[in-house]
Amino acid sequence: MHPDPPPEGYSHVESEHIENTGSGTLRAGIFGVSDGLVSNLALVMGVAGGTGQSGDAVVVAGTVGLLAGSFSMAAGEYISMKTQRETMEKQLRLEREHILAFPEEEQAHLGHLLVESGLSEEDARDIAQKVHLNIDPAVGFHALLELGIVPQQMGSPISAAVASFLSFVAGALIPLLPWLILPSALTESILVSAIALMGVGGAVTTVTGRSAWWGALRQLAFGGFAAGVTWFLGGLVGGQF
Ligand SMILES: [Zn+2]
Repeated sequence: MHPDPPPEGYSHVESEHIENTGSGTLRAGIFGVSDGLVSNLALVMGVAGGTGQSGDAVVVAGTVGLLAGSFSMAAGEYISMKTQRETMEKQLRLEREHILAFPEEEQAHLGHLLVESGLSEEDARDIAQKVHLNIDPAVGFHALLELGIVPQQMGSPISAAVASFLSFVAGALIPLLPWLILPSALTESILVSAIALMGVGGAVTTVTGRSAWWGALRQLAFGGFAAGVTWFLGGLVGGQF
């Protein structure tokens, strides 16, 4: 038998949640673009300011900065996700051992947690008893209620690392691209970067749920600040003022 189609306007809050935070890939992607854009914009502006807008110097620095940043982001993301995963797996293993060693105490504990969540004593006892008929659902419920972990939703470190790498490249390419085409591209670089900063800032709000304009302007302010400061300090170090 087919289940009824969901009513119009209904959507799984949960599935959105998995996509955004559970796997970490989309989140890592958006923040990777943002990081690549801001860091390489600052680098490009700093070198442009310090060398009297030498196109060659900007292209070398911008390309190296793009690669260095991408590798660093990918490695950081991989290690962070891997560590998180291993920590969760260890907690799940301990939970499983605990349930196998002390089934009655753990069942009672689950009942207690269910009562705390608002169920009646009787319902809680009933559900805890049914959940504890098999070890896998028992571990799953304990993991969720005690640790806030959903075992099936642990993200992949490799895919998060690849997403970080590629998205950082995409972001870092934006301020650099005009310099690859034109001999001196300061205005063009600032212009496309400003547009991209606003786009990324707006996209971030799809994860956080705030107003897109607010996100766009905030990102523009941060990116503009970073670019302005490095432009000035680059000029100072490069003896341009
Ligand atoms: Zn437990």
